[in-house]
Amino acid sequence: MASISESKKLSQLLQELVSISGLSGHEVEVNKFISNELKKNSLKSKTDILGNLVCTLKGDESLPSVILFAHMDQLGFIVKKIDSNGFLRVERVGGVPERALPSQDVVIVNKKNKLLKGIIAHKSHHATELDEKYNVIKIKDLYIDAGFNNKKDALNSGIDVGSPVTYAPFFKSLNNNNVCGSSIDDRAGCAVILKVAQSLAKQKNKPTVHIVFSVQEEFNLRGILPVINTLKPNIAIQVDLTLTSDTPDMHYASDVYLGKGPCISLFSFHGRGTLNGVIPHPSLVDLFEKISKNKKINLQKSVASGILTDASYVQFANEGIATLDIGFPMRYSHSSREICNLNDLIDLKNLLVSAISKIDNKFKLQR
Ligand SMILES: [Zn+2]
Repeated sequence: MASISESKKLSQLLQELVSISGLSGHEVEVNKFISNELKKNSLKSKTDILGNLVCTLKGDESLPSVILFAHMDQLGFIVKKIDSNGFLRVERVGGVPERALPSQDVVIVNKKNKLLKGIIAHKSHHATELDEKYNVIKIKDLYIDAGFNNKKDALNSGIDVGSPVTYAPFFKSLNNNNVCGSSIDDRAGCAVILKVAQSLAKQKNKPTVHIVFSVQEEFNLRGILPVINTLKPNIAIQVDLTLTSDTPDMHYASDVYLGKGPCISLFSFHGRGTLNGVIPHPSLVDLFEKISKNKKINLQKSVASGILTDASYVQFANEGIATLDIGFPMRYSHSSREICNLNDLIDLKNLLVSAISKIDNKFKLQR
């Protein structure tokens, strides 16, 4: 069980990460925050042309090298038109659920990187026709009201076609160490691997580990690829959410619960044109199962279709990369109010540190 101060510190870090607006392709502010956190811990990092942030912890070069990554970006919108009356029309960036949008608080990032407040409009109830009541409004019919008088007013505020828009940053603590936030996916993953970097940096016996905060995952799942091509790791471990099934609308899906520990994905698949997923490398599954038993960390198992991460593209790079998706249980994915549990994040961090440092010359890459 985690100490109170450890979960307090993690909560603080996660809140700071969630408070940054970082739409896919516009992750610079998240990058700046994380590189500064790394610097505070005397850890050097560098950024590639796409914006991926890489912190390499040198280890035993005779061992297979590891990349541990989580994505910095978040889903949202991009302004595509400013109406003459100042309302903003937007395109979706990533898997934004349209039915969860009316009445949402949003922020629009202006040219000076200032966050301007807006809301996604919801038609006055008194004027809503019967047949409109149970319909989901399509993105093309939604609009953002940021209080502008007209198009010129919006342009003068530094907003234009191409301006990034995200859910307004939100974070709050709930009961039992559960926390709710606007971009838990995947700032919680970033917080976890940041903590892993701090711990592993102090360890002597370990493989070389590249801790990577990646870009554009929500956009096209491939932002990490240049890093893979450059670093040529042998092992890839990706940290992101695992869907829970402990809510009334999800009970059929799996046996993954909030607060019951980190999750290992044994199968993920996404059809609908993508045809991809991850069937993890057996040696990595064995390693994580063994370490979780030794460390008495409950490890939940996930099999899910309809879900995809950038790891699915990573595994096919170079001569093939031993890949594993590992995650923290999370509710209400891609909504503006995602929920995870701080104890799960701490257990996940401890599991990753122990497992990665146990990668030795007996680790079998060959099938
Ligand atoms: Zn994610």
